[in-house]
Amino acid sequence: MNISIDDIKNAKDHSLKINFENEIKDLSTDGVVKAELIFSAFGSYIQVKGQIVANVKLICDRCLKNFLKKIEVDVDETYILGSAKSAKGAHSGQEIELKDGDFITELHGEDGIDVEDLIYQSVTLNIPNPSVCDINCNGSPEMEKYIKKEISDPRLDVFKNLKIKKEGK
Ligand SMILES: [Zn+2]
Repeated sequence: MNISIDDIKNAKDHSLKINFENEIKDLSTDGVVKAELIFSAFGSYIQVKGQIVANVKLICDRCLKNFLKKIEVDVDETYILGSAKSAKGAHSGQEIELKDGDFITELHGEDGIDVEDLIYQSVTLNIPNPSVCDINCNGSPEMEKYIKKEISDPRLDVFKNLKIKKEGK
């Protein structure tokens, strides 16, 4: 699904709302990925805001079991038409404020934004690392040995007696 820049610019208030409910290529999910995205045009920038919800199939980094993780992403992305250099100053009156660390994607003259790609990138960036099936997962016997070895550092003794309550279970 490609959202045309012209469609965004020609939309009412230069703002286009998209409801996406589909599978995303290369993203293993339980059911469809749902997203509600608002594309807004500001001069030489396109801003995308909204939410993505996906039940992603992951493999636990401790016990290697498959598990599902609900990933919810608040989208706030900025695209610039052309390159960063040419956009700066070209529309000085319409520039939107770009704070430090804001993620900007250059479109290099492309005429649209690939929604599937945007969703794929947003979800994969929000998958926790390491991914663990449960906060109390002790892992497989082999991994347990490995973790025990790690924890033999006396400074980490405090964690041996630490029990973490399961959320709402
Ligand atoms: Zn696990």
